[in-house]
Amino acid sequence: MNAEDLDAADPLAHFRDRFLPSPDVVTYFDGNSLGRPPIVTAERIEAFVREEWAGRLIRGWTEPTDQGGWMEWPGQVGDRLAAAALGAGPGQTVVADSTTVLLYKLARAAVDSDPDRREIVVDTDNFPTDRYVLEGIAAERGATLRWIETDPATGITPEQVAAVVGPATALVLASHVAYRSGWIADAEAITRITHDAGALALWDLSHSVGSVELELDAWGVDLAVGCTYKYLGGGPGSPAFGYVRRGLHESVRQPIQGWMGRRDPFEMGPGYTPAAGVRGVVSGTPPILAMVPLLSGLEMLEEAGIAAVRAKSVALTAFALEIVDAELVPLGVEVVSPRDPARRGGHITLRRNGFRHVLDALWARGVIPDYREPDGIRIGLSPLSTSFAEVERGLAVMRDVIVQSAS
Ligand SMILES: *Cc1c(COP(=O)(O)O)cnc(C)c1O
Repeated sequence: MNAEDLDAADPLAHFRDRFLPSPDVVTYFDGNSLGRPPIVTAERIEAFVREEWAGRLIRGWTEPTDQGGWMEWPGQVGDRLAAAALGAGPGQTVVADSTTVLLYKLARAAVDSDPDRREIVVDTDNFPTDRYVLEGIAAERGATLRWIETDPATGITPEQVAAVVGPATALVLASHVAYRSGWIADAEAITRITHDAGALALWDLSHSVGSVELELDAWGVDLAVGCTYKYLGGGPGSPAFGYVRRGLHESVRQPIQGWMGRRDPFEMGPGYTPAAGVRGVVSGTPPILAMVPLLSGLEMLEEAGIAAVRAKSVALTAFALEIVDAELVPLGVEVVSPRDPARRGGHITLRRNGFRHVLDALWARGVIPDYREPDGIRIGLSPLSTSFAEVERGLAVMRDVIVQSAS
């Protein structure tokens, strides 16, 4: 089908008009890295400042709003996110911190939960912050990293995990959708293998959430973290979310013992006792203002439904690959992402020598993907804000730029 027919048949097409325009952009290929702002987000931030912040002042922390008093937002917004995107029941998710900080807190909690287990499993192609955080924890806690060497065009497999876990394993950390290839790991199988070895599984969902369907409760996932500024449209640097399976609330203890994660914080008494449930993951004052845009992102996702979002995501990447195969592969471009739609997330990565310079030329012409070493251009296709015609336009410019750079 051509782009016009695909757009005409797209049940989510009308969502595109709900985003603010970016006048100099021909095609946005980076909604997987920073989602575009919905129109209502601008209105919502202004209304929040005027009505909530100015109107309620400090009373806002405790007096209920639609989302509860601000003090309750980490759990309330977390529950909404869990229902819309994580396949998780209430009381297991909070919105707080950055992904990096939450990753540290939950990975440390896992490593500390059994002093006899001193190995952490991670793959060489995991996102840099994940690798660096674990290196720090290993140094701090006298643990060893067991590295899995992954194929950069695919990603981590259950067989690879099964080969390295054992009685010394404390934690397996993996990304559900690989940030470069877009590979979807088999989270259910890897979690089961991790449990069979007596260890805990922590999933980084940064490139999955709001794009692919997740079933954290059904998969038995122990711990998870992820970004809200990618497919969820929370805006630059919006806070992360953390998930802790209910069965672990008593045994897993995160290391940043702040007053906001304490039982009865306003008692201000001596000694730290963690709050009941997942609230104990919170450390300091919740980033309320930074959560406001996320409410619009969640609203849209609730309305569209994650199944429809995923269906469009698969159609978008398949359409892009069709054009890439016909127009770009003959120019020496290589696809370093899974062909199987069941194993492919919401973005694809293309590789060719000299792509770093091609990126500059693309940006100059209003086509905005991003670049990942080595020689990779990442094409992210955010389902609610991207049309098939936009994909076609962007890849046509890319073809032009490659042809020109070669001559
Ligand atoms: C984007 C991303 C992050 C980002 O972490 P921050 O703390 O928000 O900078 C972490 N992990 C993965 C897998 C990502 O894709």
